[in-house]
Amino acid sequence: MRTLVMKFGGTTVGNTTALTQVVSIVLQENERWDRLIIVVSALEGVTDALIEAARLAQLSNRRGYRRIAATIRIRHLALVEKLPLGTSERNALQADIDQMLFDMLEVCQTMADATSEDLIPTKTDTIIGVGERLSARIVAALLRQNNLRGVAVDAIELIITDTTYGHAKPDMQLTQARINEHLEPMLGRIIPVVTGFIAGTPNGTPTTLGRGGSDYTASILGVCVNATETWMWTTVDGLMSTDPQLIENARVIPELSYDEVAELAYFGAKILHSRMIGPLKKKQIPLRVKNVFKPQLPGTLIHLGTTIPQGELRAVTAIQGISLSASYSGTLAEISSLVNAILHKTIGSDADVMISAQSSSRTFLTFVIPTASGPDAVHNSLIALNSSLAEDPNHTGWQVDQVSVITVIGTDIDTAPGTLARIFAAANDVRLFALSQGPSRCSISLVVQPEDTDYLLKQVHDVIINSG
Ligand code: ADP
Ligand code: ASP
Ligand code: MG
Repeated sequence: MRTLVMKFGGTTVGNTTALTQVVSIVLQENERWDRLIIVVSALEGVTDALIEAARLAQLSNRRGYRRIAATIRIRHLALVEKLPLGTSERNALQADIDQMLFDMLEVCQTMADATSEDLIPTKTDTIIGVGERLSARIVAALLRQNNLRGVAVDAIELIITDTTYGHAKPDMQLTQARINEHLEPMLGRIIPVVTGFIAGTPNGTPTTLGRGGSDYTASILGVCVNATETWMWTTVDGLMSTDPQLIENARVIPELSYDEVAELAYFGAKILHSRMIGPLKKKQIPLRVKNVFKPQLPGTLIHLGTTIPQGELRAVTAIQGISLSASYSGTLAEISSLVNAILHKTIGSDADVMISAQSSSRTFLTFVIPTASGPDAVHNSLIALNSSLAEDPNHTGWQVDQVSVITVIGTDIDTAPGTLARIFAAANDVRLFALSQGPSRCSISLVVQPEDTDYLLKQVHDVIINSG
């Protein structure tokens, strides 16, 4: 039985032109596969707005969150108005949108009225997941209008996680059981349009999987339904040699190994959620990244058995991080766990120590801050680390700085002749704080000052473009 999971990103569901493409892609793939599952993100920008609404609710700024809810409502209703839907489908959709935003305002209200902070994480995840619940209903209605049996499915009772709100970790066993019970029976008869990004605890409290989490949803569903392939539809032509928004001549990479793409996602390529590759690699499910506006292009294929020459440099990424240094030569475990505890409290996820180096008199550590933690995570982490370490008499003297980690990706990068020399030549006039070769042998990271990021990214990208 051939099963395809397709995830549509926020930019692909935000307007009528893109949604028309989505429908035509689903119509076409429906002819070619036995079972289809669709995963959707919220309309572009809606999750950011919802996060702001939750923040304002926390501050009891009632006027602020109501204004945001009103803007989100108008945007969705305007979109629905323009879509080619029948009257009853349109009316039902408008009523659904109103109801969901009304419920969301009630949650904001509870948060605004609360006297303790205990409710904040759970209520925040309930609020920020509304975007996917709205878009799933819109896409499902549009499929039905095109004679496809689309049904919106909320993943809250499908993907079961722990209680790390904002960055929840799926329990694959419980999730598998729920999917067997609730999703499997639909497949082949119905096209489920599943909300990306959101999940729930075993007792049904909403959680979320981190920013960009719809990718992870698609990966989890792909694994649990034994998908033949998983496809990510977006608005760029595939995975590229670097972020095309930063460097104009970035080019599409036709084929990548799981390890390469895992490094690419982990070290900051926003296009994929950093935790989505592991499950697909384990089950050897091929992953494609494609542009909804150019479905005829092959995009990028990630699978086993790629035929890539050893040492070919494929891509470069940049991610923000934090470094700590001190004249200290004690155990690293203690400072690492302290930092981990502080960052866990601040950004809700484990801080990944990327580099730790010690000499006779000095210690240096770099932590990367996952892009899934959101745009304010670095700033908030810096403040939290500085104030916690300053208050701790055992840890005075640690200097905390923001850094950038530039990572070059390529298979067997460490053994290919001349590769390191080319990278170092590109970084010749940049101050390097630390270097690290990834244990998967397909990445090399350079830790630099934030102000050198754009320059070094371009220098290294030129090496990639000129070498392939
Ligand atoms: P979606 O809404 O489809 O999930 P995202 O905004 O999350 O899309 O990710 C797509 C964006 O990722 C692109 O607009 C691009 O700027 C950025 N990006 C960063 N690194 C890369 C890369 N190596 N290849 C392609 N896109 C990248
Ligand atoms: N809507 C969520 C976000 O903006 C999830 C996603 O887009 O994948 O982070
Ligand atoms: Mg995304």
